[in-house]
Amino acid sequence: MTDDIDRAQAREEHDRDLALAALRERIDAALTPRDPSLDGLCIDCDEPIEPARIAALRGCVSRCIECATAAERRARGYA
Ligand SMILES: [Zn+2]
Repeated sequence: MTDDIDRAQAREEHDRDLALAALRERIDAALTPRDPSLDGLCIDCDEPIEPARIAALRGCVSRCIECATAAERRARGYA
């Protein structure tokens, strides 16, 4: 009986750890763009990224609004 409870608790902890790890991964991915632009130029078209956009995204921006929109469409399979 206590064994069952222990097992259930262990499984619950394990599930929670997995959920936390997945959440942390998502947060890390959101905070760390894979290809950040270091010079404020769009990585796709090499045009300067709008300063307001850089400020709004706290510097974590690698594409201008047009290319970011296009990239998002591609990512969602609309291209
Ligand atoms: Zn661009």
